[in-house]
Amino acid sequence: MTTIRTSCVVCGDVELVPTDLDLELFSSTGTGHYRFLCPHCDQEQRRPATHRVVSILLATGVAYQVVDDTPITESEISRFSQALDRGDWSEQLYS
Ligand SMILES: [Zn+2]
Repeated sequence: MTTIRTSCVVCGDVELVPTDLDLELFSSTGTGHYRFLCPHCDQEQRRPATHRVVSILLATGVAYQVVDDTPITESEISRFSQALDRGDWSEQLYS
């Protein structure tokens, strides 16, 4: 079986097999995130997956799910501009 080499923030380099990983694929960009449980420390790791990583993971048979990440809705935009109109947003950035 294919081994996939990646790294854990705690343990450094780890080797996994495709069934250890889960890929979340964004429908709009074709990039995403992959998740795995580190075999050494048992912590869940989540990493960004570029196009290249996505195609490698898919080629090795990693399970994936497509996530609809349709960006911003009209109501989010209007809430955002209302928040800007309040004028106190810059203070919140520094508080
Ligand atoms: Zn680890």
